[in-house]
Amino acid sequence: MQSTPAPRRGADAFGLWIDGCAQDAEARAVSTVLEPATGAPLAEVARASRADARRAAESAHHAFHEGPWPRQSAAARGRVLLDLAARVRAQAEELALLEARNTGKAISDARWEVGSGAACFEYYAGAATQLAGSTPPVDAPGISLTLRQPLGPCALIVPWNFPFLIACWKIAPALAAGNTAVVKPASATPLSVLRLAELAAQAGLPPGVLGVLPGPGESVGSALVSDPEIVKISFTGDSGNGAEILRLAAADIKRTSLELGGKSASIVFADADLARCVEKSLLAVFGNAGQDCCARSRILVEASVHDAFVEAFAAATQALVVGDPLDPRTQIGSLISLAHRERVQRYLEIGCDEGARLVCGGERPGDSALAGGAFLRPAVFDRVTPSMRVAREEIFGPVVSILPFQNEAEAIRLANDSIYGLSGSLWTRDLKRALRVARAIETGVLSVNSSRSVFLESPFGGVKRSGLGRELGRQALEAYTELKSIYFETEEGA
Ligand code: NDP
Repeated sequence: MQSTPAPRRGADAFGLWIDGCAQDAEARAVSTVLEPATGAPLAEVARASRADARRAAESAHHAFHEGPWPRQSAAARGRVLLDLAARVRAQAEELALLEARNTGKAISDARWEVGSGAACFEYYAGAATQLAGSTPPVDAPGISLTLRQPLGPCALIVPWNFPFLIACWKIAPALAAGNTAVVKPASATPLSVLRLAELAAQAGLPPGVLGVLPGPGESVGSALVSDPEIVKISFTGDSGNGAEILRLAAADIKRTSLELGGKSASIVFADADLARCVEKSLLAVFGNAGQDCCARSRILVEASVHDAFVEAFAAATQALVVGDPLDPRTQIGSLISLAHRERVQRYLEIGCDEGARLVCGGERPGDSALAGGAFLRPAVFDRVTPSMRVAREEIFGPVVSILPFQNEAEAIRLANDSIYGLSGSLWTRDLKRALRVARAIETGVLSVNSSRSVFLESPFGGVKRSGLGRELGRQALEAYTELKSIYFETEEGA
């Protein structure tokens, strides 16, 4: 493993970020954040309590109602976000290293995610000035116009799989629209977002506009969700937790966006370019060690090419480089924790017990340098049937289930046979079929002859239990606003 800087502890530990500066948690509570690739401590971080959540929500409330941010022009807000993007780019290597060490993900992925986070701030800096209302032609002697106004303090709750990037997806549109925000990072991965908050202050973001509150989801997260000053919740995480948050938010009719789990399907028709499909499908399921809500963890293959596909896919899987996250050659780093690896390995036992065939993978790498980390070689299951748990449940690890199909109708039925509906791919050279099947698949996002799901400019989100609402694109900016209709009478005596 590569040598890395010393952990931040004691006086150098990360604080809570409230009112534009680092602060101690109530009773100076502190957590130790681990490095999943080694199991060693990485940093000490202040651990927020419910009282700290109250303090952060009040700070965001004060900044919204008394501070300059919502009253500044959209262009002025955009300039601060552009400055922040430039600072992220200037510190990209430091941020990528922090992210790779805190999550165990490959450094090449972390570098891409930090660059994409900066691009997200650049996109919404420009989009802020495009956020406009309308003048509907009403049947009355006057003019009706609509305004898009910011909502107020928002709680942004972020998971551990893409801690920096998903935080950027939420912070950038929320702030561009003139809101204030408190981010609740995952307990395991708060470091890159805390560093982002420091950079935001240096970029000129007024105090209280962005808070960061590391602490347990069940106490600090739910305290934010229930806080009377919080008016909008944007949550990414587990579908069960999302449902609980929706229940809590219902009490005050809080605006709520949910990005939840997935069990996405990649459909491979016999006429597809199989070599390209295999190449592009590999990291579509095993990238980020499979800890990706968009992971194509079910591959449905037309029966006539099934055997050839499985053979080529398994060979390519075995060639994937699993190793030290900080080595630029690594394609798949560590899982988030030893406990999560146990959970994923349990699914490997379940799949075998159910009668699926484990074609390759699923073992811990033999390299002694990796022994302390949560590494797992990617696993391929074949002969999976639709009722098996490995075909139905989100494993959130490097495990793929391959199922054969006979015809187009069966492919659509299998793809839609899921409680989830986030992402997916279909592979065919037949344009009419591509459009037909794309329309029939129940997902929020789908790619044809590609494995890409996410573009800053396009709405991203799921149907069914994969979520509610959309991130990214113009739609995310609008979701951080409320529409107000104003009518002006223009005819005297009307
Ligand atoms: P969790 O739901 O466990 O955690 C997500 C965040 O919510 C964490 O910050 C967590 O805090 C917090 N949290 C947990 N419970 C509550 C609660 N009751 N109230 C408020 N906040 C809470 O998900 P994971 O971190 O395990 O992330 C994996 C899941 O996220 C997968 O299901 C995956 O599919 C989904 N996901 C969806 C994406 C999408 O865009 N649709 C993208 C990425 C992931 P703490 O860490 O302290 O528990």
